[in-house]
Amino acid sequence: MDAAFPGRCGVLSLMHLFKDLIDLILPPLCCICKRRLKSEENIICNDCYSRTRLIALPYCERCGRPLPSPDIKVCHTCITEQHPCSYIRGASPYDGITENLIILLKYNGKRGTAKTLGKLMTRVISKEDTYTNCEIIVPVPLHRTRKRERGYNQAELLGEKLSAELNLPLISNALIRMRATPSQTKLPSEKRQKNVKDAFAVNKRTAELIKDKTVLLVDDVMTTGATLNECARTLLKGGVKEVLGIVCAIA
Ligand SMILES: [Zn+2]
Ligand SMILES: [Zn+2]
Repeated sequence: MDAAFPGRCGVLSLMHLFKDLIDLILPPLCCICKRRLKSEENIICNDCYSRTRLIALPYCERCGRPLPSPDIKVCHTCITEQHPCSYIRGASPYDGITENLIILLKYNGKRGTAKTLGKLMTRVISKEDTYTNCEIIVPVPLHRTRKRERGYNQAELLGEKLSAELNLPLISNALIRMRATPSQTKLPSEKRQKNVKDAFAVNKRTAELIKDKTVLLVDDVMTTGATLNECARTLLKGGVKEVLGIVCAIA
């Protein structure tokens, strides 16, 4: 080894030293309440994490939306329509701390919040027997232009966390977004389905990996479910067995 260059261990300890120095000068703060984080906390303090709200029963057993009464099992939309995404579950309502974490992830470059959101989604999935059938994880793709602008696809980061938590392979480029569709959040609900129609395609390079598989499809927020269902429709056309959706929040 060249004496002028420290080995791998040396580089790692230098990096840790550097991080410790940065933490000393700029101590990491909770991304929600801005309190100084304890050494065992990451991105968000334990108090704020414990205040995140999870969607509790009763919710529609198909689309995961909260229901007004425990006597109903399925919401009025799911009674009349069969959706390509057989099941969808959301960790939280889109408000409070979860909404803040998602905004930080999508618009403020705070990639670290994906870990907390991934933890919330894992808590929800691990309570659902149907989700034990999932074999691979596929994120809802961003169009390449938007991915370049943002620097990453937030759904892919969430997929990475789920992949580590659930020990399932992530196929991050299984779907391609063909059109740079306007953001769904700016559209009225009746236009959302049209906006994403035929916007996705199965990536030929990974097509064999998804064949006959039960897919866990990941996104950050569901509003009407149009994006998740269009992705699921594309995946089913591409030969997957079944698609189950998971999102951080249901708006
Ligand atoms: Zn906090
Ligand atoms: Zn429903």
